[in-house]
Amino acid sequence: MILASHPEGEAMSKIKIATDWLGGCSGCHMSLLDIDERLLNLLELVELTSSPITDLKQPPEEGVTAGILEGAVNTTVNIETAKRMRERSQYLIALGDCAVFGGIVTMRNAFSLTELLERAYVDAESVVEGKVPESKELGKLIHRACPVNQIVDVDVYLPGCPPPADAIHHALSELLEGRMPAMTGDHLRYD
Ligand code: SF4
Repeated sequence: MILASHPEGEAMSKIKIATDWLGGCSGCHMSLLDIDERLLNLLELVELTSSPITDLKQPPEEGVTAGILEGAVNTTVNIETAKRMRERSQYLIALGDCAVFGGIVTMRNAFSLTELLERAYVDAESVVEGKVPESKELGKLIHRACPVNQIVDVDVYLPGCPPPADAIHHALSELLEGRMPAMTGDHLRYD
């Protein structure tokens, strides 16, 4: 699929991307940073509009070419974040096993919400006078954690825990060239 044309000799315009995280460990964002010095070249061609690691946290209302989501959908706030990213992104990328399959986050589906919350915030060995936190910012746990595509449509899947930096670089480079990234071979990792 061709995203945009870049006639020969014409400078490529910057594409806008935004990233956000749901229920994850931030390891996928660390892998994004592991692109290392190639990140500097990419940033000459890509405008990072918002991410958890920049001042702006939410994608601009006018939208971006590519929205990147890390993590499984685990809370009511994650649902809002995923829907907002979907609405504002031409193409949505699920980054990492948690976003693609649900990953390690879905291990919690074997337990009730009460069991989970009490184990984490009340019964954990390191907790003294624990209490289950309540906050609008945290939202509420949803009944079952799930991959992003159970909430919104996803265009590109980048599996791996985390996905290799080379795979992320490949996906962004393909978008820059105006192509829908085809993830094959070494770019697909399931560990
Ligand atoms: S896929 Fe792995 S690295 Fe990425 S958020 Fe999930 S646990 Fe962390």
